[in-house]
Amino acid sequence: MRKYGKVICNQCKKELKSEGNYIKEGYFEVDYTFGYFSRKDGTRHRFDLCEDCYDNMIGQFAIPVEEDEVTELC
Ligand SMILES: [Zn+2]
Repeated sequence: MRKYGKVICNQCKKELKSEGNYIKEGYFEVDYTFGYFSRKDGTRHRFDLCEDCYDNMIGQFAIPVEEDEVTELC
């Protein structure tokens, strides 16, 4: 979640390290609006996870995430 320019992990409430407006560690940002055929039609979900909580989440997947090396980071 975002609060006063800070990013806080929704899962564990850890505040991510920042310097000015820059977040200085990895995190997973979600801003997703569910579509017509979902039970959440038109509902927007926003949350942030620190890298540890993200790793825990994907660690529970039955099928691992697809992972590729990206050379140009945005
Ligand atoms: Zn966390």
